[in-house]
Amino acid sequence: MHDKDHTHVRPWRMISRRKTRQIMVGNVPVGGDAPITVQTMTNTLTSDAKATIEQIRQVEEAGADIVRVSCPDEDSTKALKEIVAASRVPIVADIHFHYKRAIEAAVAGAACLRINPGNIGSPERVREVIKAAKDNNCSIRIGVNAGSLERDLLEQYAEPCPDAMVESAMRHIRILEDHDFFNFKISCKASDVFLACAAYQQLADRCDYPIHLGITEAGGLRGGTVKSAIGMGSLLWAGIGDTIRVSLSADPVEEVRVGFELLKSLGLRHRGVNIISCPSCARQQFNVIETVQLLEERLAHVTTPMTVSIIGCVVNGPGEALMTDIGLTGGGRGTHQIYLGGGVAHRLQEKDESILDHIVKLVEDKAAQIDAETAAQAQAEAPKDGPNRIEAA
Ligand code: SF4
Repeated sequence: MHDKDHTHVRPWRMISRRKTRQIMVGNVPVGGDAPITVQTMTNTLTSDAKATIEQIRQVEEAGADIVRVSCPDEDSTKALKEIVAASRVPIVADIHFHYKRAIEAAVAGAACLRINPGNIGSPERVREVIKAAKDNNCSIRIGVNAGSLERDLLEQYAEPCPDAMVESAMRHIRILEDHDFFNFKISCKASDVFLACAAYQQLADRCDYPIHLGITEAGGLRGGTVKSAIGMGSLLWAGIGDTIRVSLSADPVEEVRVGFELLKSLGLRHRGVNIISCPSCARQQFNVIETVQLLEERLAHVTTPMTVSIIGCVVNGPGEALMTDIGLTGGGRGTHQIYLGGGVAHRLQEKDESILDHIVKLVEDKAAQIDAETAAQAQAEAPKDGPNRIEAA
């Protein structure tokens, strides 16, 4: 249920995270024992600050912890200051090659630069970019991509492979280390699940920097979700990954939602309502599919972690309800059973009240109760370091 850590009695649920250094992306810690963060990227024109801020607002509402924006030109880095000021979450500036854009982005308040130091150019330019990052408390993300490996590595290894990708990452790492810069994380992305996973595993063995996970260019909402769940899911299960981005040819809000679902499935983050529902069949006593679809929409605003089971009949309903905060099991003649806290609570007569309204009210009441308890507990414990905007993993 929402607040129970069962790993002590259910060790098969335990994920032992790789030990890493911790860096700060703005006010959000990444790596170490920090919760695994969910990122996405805007696809508006960055020079259009208004549109970009609007999209950042949408992904913030969906739960994004960190948002990346592309800075391909000077108009973009000019707009960045306004964007950073309006954002509640840290902003990562995505830079390719141009060192001036990197310096401008750091000065404009970016919390992180996504840039590969080996691609910046002369040693003097590299030094200037790293100095700008240091002076502006800006972290860096090294982003190795199988599709854009250095020519000499491609010649040496004949094709993109884990060894070549990790060699590329180590080169970039050495440049930052040589400048006494350690506030960085690394990604090693590929669109091929096998390649990405092997590269990430190798990278994880070679360094202790935080890792940004991603299966790049994964595809559309359905295909990309499956690919990401297999690739990133297996890495996260093995304890690898400190921040994630699900790359989808879809609305960035969907990337955030899928990212959270992935982490929720592995018990690594808890946010919002986790609906457990049956696929439905001829035994269903109400329309399960429609009910779940509408519930997902009506409960999207709830951020309090909670489990809700929506099950069509008594075959699996009571069993699933035992493990959830709120349960509904379809019963005969429009009379359904409601469970609260795993126990039988009351019956719902469909002729008197709609299933949807009833469940939404139960969830909202339960969320208010949990939030009040959490706030009281936090007050009692009087944390010394002030509030952290990310809930405990
Ligand atoms: S729980 Fe009942 S309605 Fe749902 S799929 Fe199983 S048998 Fe069918």
